Amino acid sequence: MLRSDHLQGGLQAALACEVARASVGGLEPPCNSTRPVTRNISYVRYNQAMPNYATFLPDINVQPALYPLLDALPGKLAQAFDPSTHGDLSRWQDVLARLPVLQASRIDLDADAPCIGLPGDSNADIRQAIEGQLKKLHPWRKGPYLVHGVHIDSEWRSDLKWRRLSGHIEPLRGRTVLDVGCGNGYHCWRMAGMRAKLVIGIDPTLLSVIQFQAIKHFTGEYPVHVLPLGIEEMPGKLAAFDTVFSMGVLYHRRSPLDHLLELRGLLRTGGELVLETLVIHGGEREVLIPEGRYARMRNVWFIPSCAMLEGWLKRCGFRDVRLLDVTQTTPTEQRATDWMRFQSLQDCLDPATPALTVEGLPSPVRAIFLAKN
Ligand code: SAH
Repeated sequence: MLRSDHLQGGLQAALACEVARASVGGLEPPCNSTRPVTRNISYVRYNQAMPNYATFLPDINVQPALYPLLDALPGKLAQAFDPSTHGDLSRWQDVLARLPVLQASRIDLDADAPCIGLPGDSNADIRQAIEGQLKKLHPWRKGPYLVHGVHIDSEWRSDLKWRRLSGHIEPLRGRTVLDVGCGNGYHCWRMAGMRAKLVIGIDPTLLSVIQFQAIKHFTGEYPVHVLPLGIEEMPGKLAAFDTVFSMGVLYHRRSPLDHLLELRGLLRTGGELVLETLVIHGGEREVLIPEGRYARMRNVWFIPSCAMLEGWLKRCGFRDVRLLDVTQTTPTEQRATDWMRFQSLQDCLDPATPALTVEGLPSPVRAIFLAKN
């Protein structure tokens, strides 16, 4: 069945419910929640800021270490989803509202392409409608996903990165996890597939957050949430997470040591950092600071050697620092597809010398480090 009104309807119902509760002075869990309330939070403020975050509250309300995040969030959400700050927002929200409502007979998040629903749950017309709507959220950078038989063939084969690390990190079962710079949340779903207790992703790019919400529309409620925040907007020194991931973010930060310190402040004592970033081949004193663009990217600041990065991690107080993997990025992993029709890696490499970028710099190599707080 195709329905286009469920989101607005859901919002109205949620607001009606919350207003009714608020009018009797109640700060209670949202409708349908049976979990205990341990903190006085205004659900009305949350639902008005963004209805899709209603279940965030019961999920983190039982974790006192996360209360500072709860306190800061309504204002942040209202700001991020203020229609006047983003010209495309209403178009994207319209896409979300038009997604068909379907029951997924099977959800498998522990798969290279997380699989939500089987082709038999829908029909060819519905699949075409899903594909048409999701393609309006172009470009899909991270994936792949398989949504009711629709294969979202994103620019990145994000599954390859996950394969390189998932067997080596502390098992995520029962852990509270943060994914900093999570994009549309591909790896967040994989973390949930490893049975993490709660996964919070943060990313300041609003289209990525909307893409996450499109996927979540089809999964139903999972303890997986993506918030429209940069790491600098997180309450400092939360010391709340068992595992913190920062993948593909460090080189975008102007102050990489501050980024590492911020990550450490988010981890509980003994928690694990999973850090993935661009590196160069070289010794402990070598770091590339591109003068202009790097592989056509404008916002690349520091690309250290592995030895230098290891030194940074230790200097910032991490222990048990371990280099897990170093991999050259190839067009098998990053390429243009029907779901990402802009330039991709191939267009950023020197056609005569693919070991160099078009700017004449060493072409992308990525390393994964593990470390403990
Ligand atoms: N972690 C994913 C996505 C990496 S792309 C992966 O490894 O596949 C880098 C992401 O970092 C982008 O989605 C970008 O929006 C996000 N980002 C940029 N600046 C950030 C900041 N200050 N805090 C958190 N995320 C940031």
